[in-house]
Amino acid sequence: MKRRKFLKRASLTGIGVAVGTTILANTPSKKINEIKNSLTKTKENFPIVISTWDVPNATKKAGLLLEEGSSSIDAIEKGCMVEEADLNNQSVGNGGRPDRDGHVTLDACIMDKSGNYGSVVYMKNIIHAISVARKVMEDTPHVILAGKGAEKFAISKGFKKTNLLTEASKKAWEDWKKESNYKPIINIENHDTIGMLAIDKNGDISGGCTTSGLAYKMAGRVGDSPIIGSGLFIDNKIGGATATGMGEEVLKTVGSFLIVELMRQGKTPQEACEEAIHRIVSKNDNYKNFQVGYIAINKKGETGYYSIHEYFSVSIYKDSNCTNVPSDFYNKN
Ligand code: ASP
Repeated sequence: MKRRKFLKRASLTGIGVAVGTTILANTPSKKINEIKNSLTKTKENFPIVISTWDVPNATKKAGLLLEEGSSSIDAIEKGCMVEEADLNNQSVGNGGRPDRDGHVTLDACIMDKSGNYGSVVYMKNIIHAISVARKVMEDTPHVILAGKGAEKFAISKGFKKTNLLTEASKKAWEDWKKESNYKPIINIENHDTIGMLAIDKNGDISGGCTTSGLAYKMAGRVGDSPIIGSGLFIDNKIGGATATGMGEEVLKTVGSFLIVELMRQGKTPQEACEEAIHRIVSKNDNYKNFQVGYIAINKKGETGYYSIHEYFSVSIYKDSNCTNVPSDFYNKN
């Protein structure tokens, strides 16, 4: 029986290569990729990590952990922590840009293979928001903790209180206050919110998303990143998706949930990301003034990514390599 299965698989692979070779000459590259993907044996695509933006350290950290046999949820937490601790990344964790009152407030969420979810919103003074989100998921009867309550919970779990406003972020805020013009910048520094999706060696999917949110937001503002279905959604039977960019637009279209549902209906991760971006653009005459980027992965380990504007990119860890790949985008005018 085993041998028969093996022969069947081997002959299918053989046909695939032959088919692939004959059509390579005159088939558009998108189609070729689809065919190659469809012929890939499931297991060969694991483990895999995909993150928003050019974040090699975080993505590698998660990828190496997966190679060593870690679960996808552990890899996601540890990978996101790398960006949260990086003072040079002014969009996530320590050193993040503050709200317009000068407070750095963090949003983060995490989701596991069983559909469990934990999140913190508008949390101050704690660097590793992703880890607090995981504790909310694992150690409380709730799914979201906000503001002071989230901070108090974090401290009760042993997290250290830290002033997250660095001199660099403080100076940028003071400069901003001179005009106080709230206009989120497209692709600020090319590494905003980190959203990360991973499949471990067992084929189980988890995801996480962590951010200091849009710079100079109103006090109390919460973006898409910590909200289930908007900034992140995982269904271990189907796949996962996560977002970066103008959170209000992602929230209004429940973008990550939409992408997972589109994959459930048979769309590839790429097609699903494109449709989710089209939803935003088609409702919004103002789309030229903001960026949204989505990434997605399906159960087979196929990935997709798409944004409104140029210069969104993704980091992918696969086969012990971490690559930064530019994303295709909608606004080509
Ligand atoms: N999506 C995040 C938010 O709206 C911001 C970002 O990705 O830069 O808070």
